[in-house]
Amino acid sequence: MIDFRSDTVTRPSQGMLAAMQKAPLGDDVFGEDPLTNALERETAQRFGLEAGLFCPSGTMANQIAIKNHSSAPGSLICDQRSHVYLYEVGGISFHSGLSPILTQDEAGLMQPSSLLAALPNPHDLHKANAQILVLENTCNKGGGSCYELDQMQALSQLARENNLAVHLDGARLANAIVAKGYSEKEVGACFDSISICLSKGLGAPIGSLLLGSADFIRSARRLRKLFGGGMRQTGQLAAAGQYALDQQWDRLAEDHEKAAELGQLIAQQAYCEELAPIQTNIVLFRLKEELSPQAFLDQLAAKGLLAVPFGGQWIRLVTHLDISAADMQQAKQILRSI
Ligand SMILES: *Cc1c(COP(=O)(O)O)cnc(C)c1O
Repeated sequence: MIDFRSDTVTRPSQGMLAAMQKAPLGDDVFGEDPLTNALERETAQRFGLEAGLFCPSGTMANQIAIKNHSSAPGSLICDQRSHVYLYEVGGISFHSGLSPILTQDEAGLMQPSSLLAALPNPHDLHKANAQILVLENTCNKGGGSCYELDQMQALSQLARENNLAVHLDGARLANAIVAKGYSEKEVGACFDSISICLSKGLGAPIGSLLLGSADFIRSARRLRKLFGGGMRQTGQLAAAGQYALDQQWDRLAEDHEKAAELGQLIAQQAYCEELAPIQTNIVLFRLKEELSPQAFLDQLAAKGLLAVPFGGQWIRLVTHLDISAADMQQAKQILRSI
């Protein structure tokens, strides 16, 4: 099976497994796991932020950040396509007691004018005051779309002028940095907190990092315990994460090339009504109205290719490090044969 369902399906590479085997271990709830401490500290430094927290999942990292930045009642502003709104089980409301205010912009990339229009009047006693802005880069539901640096800077400035905390859901931030060429520190300067998934395109088996100020991470660590995410001998996972950051970051460009290749081919097929612009490792396309997405996916699966339905007539394919050159040849043949 050639698995394009997600970049989460990757397995640890040989080099990663070797790094994991060598890891010294300590109890991370006691703050004694050396590689976890180093991973948290060094990744924060890389982004110009003070401290980091290793979390079991991106969802937990985002939800801890949201809770840590807020105090109910209040509201959170994000795009309608945001993962924190669509795919985190309503955690914004459940964990933090916030109501979401949704903006609607092309490819899930918020415009400063939309943020301005979304801000509730702080003097209106009917309104839940806005406390947090959440941006997503790359935006998954937007087809792996990326912000320009000046867009993030403008949104951040506007949010801070209005006393909002600014959080970045950077599950695939490495893809955006590789695609756009801005630096980690330039991104870090725009945000009060950033979550980064090690288990997506970077290829680690588990884990996300939450980055922020030393004070922010101190209280986030308590919230991680509250959420049941305090972990013990995490050294092997931290070794995998460190290896992912050091060795499997630059190669994301290959995934982007593969996504572009697949997109080019799909756009020419009779079943494709529309292809979303491809900026990173996600291919989104819309099937012709008369076709059933499930029947289409079943046909692909029968030929050895897995993809996922993405709402309505949309289909998503994600490229990643376990897609070989041979897989690409095979995949193209399958996509042409339907
Ligand atoms: C995958 C993802 C997350 C977090 O996912 P987990 O499966 O909980 O690690 C958060 N935001 C975005 C945009 C994602 O794609």
